[in-house]
Amino acid sequence: MEEAKAIKAAKAKAYREANKERIATKKAADAKTEHGRALDKARGERYRAKHPEHVRKLQQKARDKRAHIEKANAKQKRVELMNSYVAQLLRLPTALVPPEIMEVERTRVKIKREIQELDKYRTEKKCSTCKNYKPIISFSRSRGTKDGHSYECLMCRREKKRRDSQEKGLEYKPRNFNEFGRNVRHTPEELKAAKRAYYYTNIETIRAKDRARSKQRKQRKQNETHQ
Ligand SMILES: [Zn+2]
Repeated sequence: MEEAKAIKAAKAKAYREANKERIATKKAADAKTEHGRALDKARGERYRAKHPEHVRKLQQKARDKRAHIEKANAKQKRVELMNSYVAQLLRLPTALVPPEIMEVERTRVKIKREIQELDKYRTEKKCSTCKNYKPIISFSRSRGTKDGHSYECLMCRREKKRRDSQEKGLEYKPRNFNEFGRNVRHTPEELKAAKRAYYYTNIETIRAKDRARSKQRKQRKQNETHQ
């Protein structure tokens, strides 16, 4: 029984070997007809039902192969994008940038991005005018800049204001400020002294106003008594 099976299988194999091309053309022709496709599908279903383990393995293999290719494609795409970005920065067509320069520029762009990321956490900043590193509190808030603080420190800004008003022939009197250049709130004594100073410098007008007011009051009272 076993022998007969083996002989039959060997015969079938020999037939397939002998008629390889004929079978291939027949299969190709079948794939074009609906009937052939149905036959093929049925054959596939039969095979999958018979060997589920093997089919699962094959599917996994195909998936792995595809994942590898997709990963490589994505990497290639990233590199191309980066290259075109670098070429844009250099104002050159991508093909004309030598590979070693591309490598250097890529690293530079990467570092720049990392520094920008770190910007969010910094506590110091370099002033663009006096070139000193100062604590972030010495810079006013600004919406126009990347890090949300102005380029110039408060001291330099004050200095600029003073120069501007000097050019216009005006007097510049800054408010009190601390070591960071921040405005300091006036103490109660300072406010009192300021009020007193204002009163004595404007004493004439203040007295004139007072007199006018009391005169008005008197007039009103007289009118009331007459009525
Ligand atoms: Zn400065």
